[in-house]
Amino acid sequence: MNPFTYARADHAEDALRLAEPQGAKFLGGGTNLVDLMRETIERPQSLVDVTGLSATIEETSAGGLRIGAAARNSAVAEHLAVRTRYPALSRALLAGASGQIRNMATVGGNILQRTRCTYFYDDDGSRCNKRVPGQGCDAIDGFNRIHAILGASSSCVATHPSDMCVALAAFDSVVHLRSARGERAVPITEFHRLPGDTPHVETVLEPGELIVAVELPPNPIAQRSTYRKVRDRSSYAFALVSVAAALQIEGSTVKDVRLALGGVAHKPWRASKAEAALRGREATEANFRAAAAAELIDARPLRDNAFKIELAVRTITAVLQQLTEEAR
Ligand code: SF4
Repeated sequence: MNPFTYARADHAEDALRLAEPQGAKFLGGGTNLVDLMRETIERPQSLVDVTGLSATIEETSAGGLRIGAAARNSAVAEHLAVRTRYPALSRALLAGASGQIRNMATVGGNILQRTRCTYFYDDDGSRCNKRVPGQGCDAIDGFNRIHAILGASSSCVATHPSDMCVALAAFDSVVHLRSARGERAVPITEFHRLPGDTPHVETVLEPGELIVAVELPPNPIAQRSTYRKVRDRSSYAFALVSVAAALQIEGSTVKDVRLALGGVAHKPWRASKAEAALRGREATEANFRAAAAAELIDARPLRDNAFKIELAVRTITAVLQQLTEEAR
């Protein structure tokens, strides 16, 4: 690990001031950043601890929820309003990591966690465009079972590891950012980037910008939502495929639906094609499967991960079937 300075901020302005020197990084629970520093993948010259910033979960005037970026993952998962009004978010958080890690990890840090591509972490000669831009990508022709099937590029086929962000994407959540230049709000679906030819640029976050909160808009459909994560073992593993879904049925017809996928792309993948294919259609297993297949039509599998296409189709179908049965 490289030498670095450490300072703790009490509020956002304090954090921005302390992080002014180039090479500073904001530190949340440290459950990913500290690992990356140990591996010397991240080499910040200074750390600004932002766990003292707002961790409150409060009602918005619009009727949604605003979650402070320093809120711990376990606190969000257990919060009554989250559990009852956005159950998919609670389930997604509980599906991530271990209890100890959830107690440490913050919402802001969860959004910014980096891929678990094994070549990205390998310090023994692997080529990785995220670590050294222009170097190449050993995952493309290597062991790529866990990698992306949607939205990847010839530069990078990594996936985003967050469960929480998949649920946030399904609910049109907004990330609130602050910098010396002021504040702005970015939809979570636009916050993470697809890799293109610059996979080392993972988000639209600008230098010196700090995540201060996440806002969940009011959304009655979210009350009937769930999250399903398919992985190699039942705990403490990243998703091969995950689905966040909410469904509103009127009679036997799909009135509204929200779908997002994890484990398939460089960002949480909002399944807009599947949603469009379902609205106004009969809530049948055949239609669920057809809509899921429409979403996956653009999938481009690698040598080891073609199974993810059918797995995603089946998981979307099963989750929508579950929500339909629960609504009846
Ligand atoms: Fe690096 Fe992305 Fe290739 Fe993994 S998939 S080795 S993170 S460039």
